[in-house]
Amino acid sequence: MKKYQLMAPGPTPVPSQVLLAMARPIIHHRTPEYEALFVEARDGLKTLVQTRQDVVPFACSGTGVLEAAVVNTLSAGDTVIVVVAGKFGERWVEIAKAYGLQVVPLTAPFGETVSPERVAEALARHPKAQAVLAQHSESSTGVLHDVRGYAAVTRGTSAILIVDAVSSLGIADLPMDAWGVDAVVAGSQKGLMLPPGLGFAALSEKAWERAKTSTLPKYYFDIAVERRFVARNEARFTPAVSLVIGLREVLRMLADEGLANVFKRHDRLARATRAGVEALGLELFARATPSPALTAVVAPRGIDSEAIAAAFSRDHNITIAGGQGEMKGQVFRLGHMGYAAEFDTITALAALEQILADLGQPVDFGASVRAAQKVFAAR
Ligand SMILES: *Cc1c(COP(=O)(O)O)cnc(C)c1O
Repeated sequence: MKKYQLMAPGPTPVPSQVLLAMARPIIHHRTPEYEALFVEARDGLKTLVQTRQDVVPFACSGTGVLEAAVVNTLSAGDTVIVVVAGKFGERWVEIAKAYGLQVVPLTAPFGETVSPERVAEALARHPKAQAVLAQHSESSTGVLHDVRGYAAVTRGTSAILIVDAVSSLGIADLPMDAWGVDAVVAGSQKGLMLPPGLGFAALSEKAWERAKTSTLPKYYFDIAVERRFVARNEARFTPAVSLVIGLREVLRMLADEGLANVFKRHDRLARATRAGVEALGLELFARATPSPALTAVVAPRGIDSEAIAAAFSRDHNITIAGGQGEMKGQVFRLGHMGYAAEFDTITALAALEQILADLGQPVDFGASVRAAQKVFAAR
């Protein structure tokens, strides 16, 4: 028997109390029970997203709400400025192009970031740009982009800032209202410790104004219509009831821990993971601020990163992730978001040591574990 451990950058493990809550017989969504459930979830989501606005749920994966943010705030022919420093940045470009938008890509080599100054310059050069699209945590490279800086340079312009927070909500601090972010979108299967299938979108006043005149086609994802139902603690269509039940549990857990502590925990896990892999002589893929959600590691010279990911699974029953797109073969990614704690990090590092040794690398056993424990000991 090999105990199964999910350590990918999403989906992430679901706590047993959440699984148990979701395992109870399904309830109908047009009932007082659902309403009471939704009232609590609605309130908890606002706290989590740090906004006074309603956070509108949709039954879809994260990409669904990325698309929802675009179709609800933009119009045919609009120009958008996109931060592209990884595969998820490229996804924004693909969505924008699918709707015929004019894309101004701000590219950086994968592993790096795009500075707020470059966003400011692009906004000055394209005064008609209607939106800036960016990731907070770019999960393909393990970089955390400067959303606070992007918000500061976007605020005074006619553009809105739309942030993909799928791998940062409940992981890295993103105070939507305080920073002035216009749209935050996220999904259930990363920091929220839920199975995949639930997406969330919150819009600022400025973005809601935009929604009034947006001409891109939409039906299921019409957020203005959905918000009218949310305001009555209802859903327009059948909601993902069991996921909303799980969400209520998760929101309680996060409230008990305290948001500030949730962010601190992720930061510590990330620092310990980085210290661990560096103690093995490995290089981080991130050359800018690293994400607290996951650590992208460059495979040792001559070793295919997919072989490392495969060995995690085959030899240890641990799921991690390899590299996406052009990073395939070069990078492997260790997730430490959501239902993740100190000894999960120790497990991942200990397994990594064994795998590298099995692949013929010189390994000083315990070196990465020791480095991580030092991070945990320094409180
Ligand atoms: C996981 C993820 C997504 C969403 O992917 P789905 O598979 O559609 O849920 C989007 N952006 C980022 C940054 C992610 O990490």
